[in-house]
Amino acid sequence: MINTIKINTTGVKNVLNFFKKFIPSSLPGAECPEVDKFRVYARSEHNISRSQISDNALKVLYRLQKEGYEAYLVGGCVRDLLLGREPKDFDVATNADPEQIRRVFRNCRIIGRRFRLAHVHFGREVIEVATFRGAAEQQNDKQMLNHEGRLLRDNVYGTIEEDVWRRDFTVNALYYNIRDFSVIDYVSGMDDHKAATLRLIGEPHTRFREDPVRMLRAVRFAVKLSFKLHPDCENAIPSTVHLLSSIPSARLYDEVLKLFLFGYALQSFEMLRHYGLFQILFPDTEKSLTRQESGFPRLLLLKALENSDNRIAEGKSVTAYFLFATFLWEPVRLLAQDKMNKGIAEFIAYQDAANEIINKQVKRTALPRHISLAMREVWSLQPRFTSRTGSKPSRLLSHPRFRAGFDFLMLRAETGGAELELAQWWQTYQQVDETEQRKMTQPSRKNPSSRSGRKRTYRKRTSSSATESKN
Ligand code: ATP
Ligand code: MG
Repeated sequence: MINTIKINTTGVKNVLNFFKKFIPSSLPGAECPEVDKFRVYARSEHNISRSQISDNALKVLYRLQKEGYEAYLVGGCVRDLLLGREPKDFDVATNADPEQIRRVFRNCRIIGRRFRLAHVHFGREVIEVATFRGAAEQQNDKQMLNHEGRLLRDNVYGTIEEDVWRRDFTVNALYYNIRDFSVIDYVSGMDDHKAATLRLIGEPHTRFREDPVRMLRAVRFAVKLSFKLHPDCENAIPSTVHLLSSIPSARLYDEVLKLFLFGYALQSFEMLRHYGLFQILFPDTEKSLTRQESGFPRLLLLKALENSDNRIAEGKSVTAYFLFATFLWEPVRLLAQDKMNKGIAEFIAYQDAANEIINKQVKRTALPRHISLAMREVWSLQPRFTSRTGSKPSRLLSHPRFRAGFDFLMLRAETGGAELELAQWWQTYQQVDETEQRKMTQPSRKNPSSRSGRKRTYRKRTSSSATESKN
């Protein structure tokens, strides 16, 4: 019965929408946000040109339109195109449901549980096609909130007018209409875009409660686009920040990668800490930072993030495991120190500390096995760098993870957590020929890595960092 009423309501809305499309965008009435609650920006009023849109996205849009469906570009691609940037990906919104989309495209797969989506594949490019989502009040077996108000499932389909309210920020809710190349704006997203402001659609606390990941998205977009958070959005964060801890760790891992591996890691880190979000993602790291705010753990992180951003700016690749290894190094080191103080041998202490810290971390952000293995390797190589005589250096050099281990050592040395002379020795060792390498590793040679020598090279020392020199 309820369903019948819903279907009828949607039908009426569809009829209204059909007529709305015939309101010319050049009419003054259509340009006013108060009239019909939306504004249409004609092609001449915005800077999005089809030449900036991927051919495959255009194919999808035209094909859906040809089959009689509505088809729009929406989300980050419209937002980025308006800024003259190349979008990361192209998202399409349509009134065709996933099955109908599948019938239109042979190269299509339906994915998602929380919200079913169609992925249309063109070689390596995937165009995501989503059916308009329905309104929040139509909660039933297809849409579910948990006791905290978090949206667990959201498979109610609707109209474009309903779809718009389900989106997070007004600048992410602009629809580029392939029919006449206009941009449809229901939420004054264009004004916010011009003002470089991230404003949540609807009541901010409710929207963050529905999906706490939106707080991370707010930070990511603010940093990436150089937009500011609207004060209402900003003010809602402190009371909802704790809800982030109930998000599945796999989803948080994905978000963390987007925050830290796309060239804005340093600013993301600062902003996440500013809003108290970082402590939810990396509780142990936060604890170690608070303990030594100005010391080298913080310097190590800042330098790692800066290096990572610089590499991306130079078109080089960055790896997730290296960044995670820097985030968790200090907690591992401190825990290992505790264990050594209790008489546990250094090697075992570090191994156990690594296991414990990783096991705790995966409860917040999942860490795929190949990532956690690589992190352990980078950490376990650190003590081995202190052996500079005999065959050990050449064996270490041929270790598959040597390069990352050495980069990590260099990072520690540059930020006061290891001796610079040791890192420089390894730098030279890699560059010279075999004869010279043999000379460098002569057992008789007075090795400058004696402990007294190393202690003097520390920039900053604390009781907890003292044994670091043994690594
Ligand atoms: P980018 O792809 O550049 O990271 P984006 O805005 O396109 O940014 P996507 O994750 O691709 O981000 O999502 C596409 C669109 O889907 C968003 O612009 C937004 O309209 C909507 N969306 C995505 N995630 C959420 C969310 N958690 N809550 C509400 N709307 C969302
Ligand atoms: Mg996107």
